[in-house]
Amino acid sequence: MRQLKPYIVGNWKMNGSSADLAILKAIADAAGSDTGVDVGICPPATLIAAFAQSAGGVHIGAQDCHAKTSGAHTGCLSAAMIKEAGATFSIVGHSERRADQGETDADVAAKAEALHDAVLGAILCVGETLDERDSGNAIAIVTAQLAASLPQSASADWLSVAYEPVWAIGTGRVPVADDIAAMHAALRATLTDRMGAEGAGVRILYGGSVNSGNAAEILAIPDVGGALVGGASLKAETFLPIIQAAPR
Ligand code: PEP
Repeated sequence: MRQLKPYIVGNWKMNGSSADLAILKAIADAAGSDTGVDVGICPPATLIAAFAQSAGGVHIGAQDCHAKTSGAHTGCLSAAMIKEAGATFSIVGHSERRADQGETDADVAAKAEALHDAVLGAILCVGETLDERDSGNAIAIVTAQLAASLPQSASADWLSVAYEPVWAIGTGRVPVADDIAAMHAALRATLTDRMGAEGAGVRILYGGSVNSGNAAEILAIPDVGGALVGGASLKAETFLPIIQAAPR
């Protein structure tokens, strides 16, 4: 298996204000020049511009973008808009958006394609609900979700995937290591089926209740290429140990 540079990304969701620039600066000072790991923070869109100016080596991303370039889409932001604000990538298909905004796999693929068109990176999220996990069909469900959400122009230089079991997000529950390994292996197979050898270079992050206590174990699981971190990314003292736990 090819060793990919770990990618540790914080998703601040609907949290944070300009007062929290100090948190970004602490993260950038401690980890921004670490060449062994890629670090990203996705603040709310209102903070992208200010964060981008103080990011040092930390990549600043958005949490979503619209698939269209412009038009009558009140409250939405295009890929070009988030890029102009200073983002270099965006999350797409987070389960909270799939659930709250009814985003479909086709919507997610179109958003990822829009990011590619704007020369931005994407982290494409997939994951099963608890009912789907309990049904015993999680692997079939999540690989089908990935296959349907992958954009046409998917390639390893701009696309990452995040496996985020919905039942693990913000709950303190984490799948056992064997289940994470089995899902990542299945997602890898889906990527190489679709993209050929290129699929081996796509980083597959794990997300869902990653914290300083479990990060080292999770990040050591075969084919876990990093972590997408919610709650524990909101403070430097809880996010930095996760970055430090990434294998080099
Ligand atoms: C997330 O929402 O992407 C996430 C992983 O959240 P948490 O780390 O809080 O479970």
